[in-house]
Amino acid sequence: MARSRVIVVGGGLAGSEAAWQCACRGVPVSLFEMRPQTPTAVHRTDRLAELVCSNSFKSLETLNAHGLLKAELRLVGSLIIDCALDARLPAGAALAVDREAFAERVTTRITGHPLIELEREEVAEIPSAGPTILATGPLCSERLAESICGFTGQDNLAFYDAISPIIDGDTIDREVAFRASRYGKGSGDDYLNCPLNRSDYERFYDALECADAAELHDFDRQLLFEGCLPIEELARRGRDTLRFGPMKPVGLTDPRTGRRPWAVVQLRQDNLAATHWSMVGFQNRLRFAEQKRLFRMIPGLQRAEFVRLGMIHRNCYINSPRILRETFQTRRRDDLLFAGQLSGVEGYTESTASGMIAGIGAAALVKGHAPPVFPPQTALGSLQRYVAHANPENYQPTNFAFGLLPGLETPPKSKRERRKATAARAIRALGTYLKSVAFEPLAVDLRPRAAGL
Ligand SMILES: Cc1cc2nc3c(=O)[nH]c(=O)nc-3n(C[C@H](O)[C@H](O)[C@H](O)COP(=O)(O)OP(=O)(O)OC[C@H]3O[C@@H](n4cnc5c(N)ncnc54)[C@H](O)[C@@H]3O)c2cc1C
Repeated sequence: MARSRVIVVGGGLAGSEAAWQCACRGVPVSLFEMRPQTPTAVHRTDRLAELVCSNSFKSLETLNAHGLLKAELRLVGSLIIDCALDARLPAGAALAVDREAFAERVTTRITGHPLIELEREEVAEIPSAGPTILATGPLCSERLAESICGFTGQDNLAFYDAISPIIDGDTIDREVAFRASRYGKGSGDDYLNCPLNRSDYERFYDALECADAAELHDFDRQLLFEGCLPIEELARRGRDTLRFGPMKPVGLTDPRTGRRPWAVVQLRQDNLAATHWSMVGFQNRLRFAEQKRLFRMIPGLQRAEFVRLGMIHRNCYINSPRILRETFQTRRRDDLLFAGQLSGVEGYTESTASGMIAGIGAAALVKGHAPPVFPPQTALGSLQRYVAHANPENYQPTNFAFGLLPGLETPPKSKRERRKATAARAIRALGTYLKSVAFEPLAVDLRPRAAGL
C-alpha cells in the first residue's frame, strides 16, 4: 500500500467518525467535504456531521437495538456518540441532540486533530489508488455517483425517501398539546402530544386519503425505504395503520380527559431553545399547501407555523452484498472502503458504526494489519455480516435490529429477557474482543467517558 495518508470522502457522520478513528490510530487523513462550495439539496450549513432530518439518534436503552449499538460504539470510543452526548436534549430514553451544538462539536474536534486535514472540495472521481473511504451519504454528488456506478457496474444507485415537518413552538396550542413521554420514560414529559379523539382521527384520515402528493417521477417508482414510509403511504395500507404506527396513543393519558386518546401526534423538541418541534414519524411527500392545511386539522396545531415542511429526497446506496466484504472493503479493491448510508446501512447510528469500522480498517491496512471483524454476537459484527452477506436481490439499507444477531442457546421465554440476555452477550463478546490482540485500541482513549453508560 503506497500511500500512507488515508483519503476520506464526505464529512458526514460516517466520514467524520472514520477520519477520527484513523487519525487517533496515528494515521494521517485528508477529509474531503464538498460543502459549502458544492451544496446538497438538504444540508443548510458548512459544518461536518450536519443532521439533515430528525435530531434523534434514537434509544439509549440496551433493550432496544439502537441502544445496544450505541453502547458498543461508546465502548470502542466513538467521536460521534461522544459529541451527541455533549449536545444532548431531553427526549425520554432517546439520545436527541441540539443539532447545531452537535455539528459544531464534531467540526471542532475534527479540525483540531493534528493528523486530519480538512479539504473543502468535491471529489468527482474515486481516487485511483491508495487507502480511500467513500462516505458521501445518501446525497452523494452526481459526478462521484457516476464514478461509483462505473466501479460497481450498477446502472442505478438511487432511490428516494421522505422527511418530517418542523413546527415553530410558539404556534403550538399548549392548552391542547400536553407534555408527556410514553409510559413516563426519560424525564416523563419530554414530548408534546396532540391528542385526537375518534372523530378528529376519522376527519384527518379522510382528508389525508385524498390529499395531493408530489408528482411521481421515474425515480419514485423505485422502492421507498420501508422503515421511513411517508404517512400518506402508510395511510393507504388501512384506516388504522397510522393509529398503530406514528400516531399510536399507547402509554399516554390526556390530562384534560384522564383517558388515553384515540390517536396522538407526538412532537419532539428539535433545538436547545425548545423553539422548534418536529412531528415524529410524519415524513411525507405531500404538496406544501396540503401539508399546512392537513396538519392544521390536528388538535393543538390549528395555528401551526412550519419551520420546514416534509419532502422527498434522493438516497444513494450500493448493493453492498455484491460489492463489499465484512470489513467494508470492496471485494475488487483492498484499499477502497465504503461507509455510511452509501455503504448500505440505514440511520445515524448505523452510519456512524460503519464509519468507525471503515476508519479502524483503513488505519489497519496502512499499518499492514488486518481490518477488524467484530464477533457475530455484537451489533457491530452483525452489521458487518449483513452488508456483506444479505440477499443482494432487492437489497435495501438496514437499521440494526436484534433479528440480525444469532439466537441464544437457551433463550428465555419473555421477549424482554431474551433481549436482555442478547444485549449482555453482545457487550461481553465485544469486551473480550477489545482486549484481544486482534484489536488495536484508540491512541486517544474516549472509553473512560464511555464507561459511564
Ligand atoms: C433528507 C434526509 C433525511 C434523513 N433523515 C434521517 C433521519 O431522520 N434519521 C436517520 O437516522 N437517518 C436519516 N437519513 C439518513 C441519513 O442521511 C443518514 O442516516 C446519515 O446522515 C448518513 O450519514 P453519512 O455520513 O453516510 O451521510 P451524510 O451525513 O449525508 O454525509 C455525507 C457528506 O458527504 C458530502 N459529500 C457528498 N458528495 C461528496 C463529494 N463528491 N465530495 C465531497 N463531499 C461529498 C456531503 O456534503 C455530506 O456532508 C436521512 C437522509 C436524508 C437525505
